[in-house]
Amino acid sequence: MGITVINGMLPYHCVSDVRSIMPVRNNHNDMTQKDTAMLPETPHALSFLSRPRLAPAFSALIIGIALNGCAGQQPPTSATYSNADLNEQLVMATAWMQSAAEYRALSFQAFNVARLRLDQALEAQKPEDRPLAVIVDCDEAVIDNTPFEAWLIGRNEQYSSANWNAWVEDAQARALPGAQAFLNYARSRGVEVFYVTNRDERSLAATMKNLKQLDFPWVDEQHMMLRTDASDKQPRREAVMATHDVALLVGDNLADFDSRYDADDVATRNARVIQDWAQFGERYIVLPNPTYGSWEAALYKGDFSLSPQEKNQRRREALRVWSGPE
Ligand SMILES: [Mg+2]
Repeated sequence: MGITVINGMLPYHCVSDVRSIMPVRNNHNDMTQKDTAMLPETPHALSFLSRPRLAPAFSALIIGIALNGCAGQQPPTSATYSNADLNEQLVMATAWMQSAAEYRALSFQAFNVARLRLDQALEAQKPEDRPLAVIVDCDEAVIDNTPFEAWLIGRNEQYSSANWNAWVEDAQARALPGAQAFLNYARSRGVEVFYVTNRDERSLAATMKNLKQLDFPWVDEQHMMLRTDASDKQPRREAVMATHDVALLVGDNLADFDSRYDADDVATRNARVIQDWAQFGERYIVLPNPTYGSWEAALYKGDFSLSPQEKNQRRREALRVWSGPE
């Protein structure tokens, strides 16, 4: 999918070309005009994303003028704008995930909806049907790695396989609110849980240790499906679907659900989500993650080799900005 490899490994937040796992209901036409108006973005509203961007040099000039005008400081340059500077942008997102009761409420909401949908699937199940299963991603879907993001803040480092694997080996991730209860509810109803994660397969033991500490069910080699040679989750999903009926999928990244979302541009990802709006809260249960994800990769067109300054510029170019008071 065009993701640039860092230190020989994909960034953990990068997922892959996954093939379509199910026919996607397109109920967009079923919505009323009011419903459509309530969508955060409509295809028409997305048109701004398709417009040519400001030329980078011109954008840099504007940013430079703004920074000079506001703070009387020189704009950051590639020589001075470091990963440490870029990591400052993690402060708000990480503080929100670690302290906002609203984040906890969203997590509970996600797993409450998941239980409701699982109950419906169980009710609809016939004796001749295959056993039901739930597929969950791990990181920021059922466990919380924000201490790793917080560790990056104040350091002139970026994500690397080395620092991420050190965190993973420490097995200190906590359960997301509601995750443990939901997963054990599934087990109590005889529903198997498969952990389809892009953690490297060499992290299997540490990941199992971490999940067992959290009293998660089905933590065994049959149900742990880590990344081997490819980050594409589709073959792993298909392996589950070969023997089970998958009631729902839980993830923080759209590629946890379907390959159709796996595009390296913002407009395509958003247009596809709008097209599939009825799936969310039904078959797809989404957890919020403002710290990383394929949404960030899309800002860079999949190129994580960009300099910190270039990444900052891409982020700023993606903003829709008020024109200001008259
Ligand atoms: Mg994840």
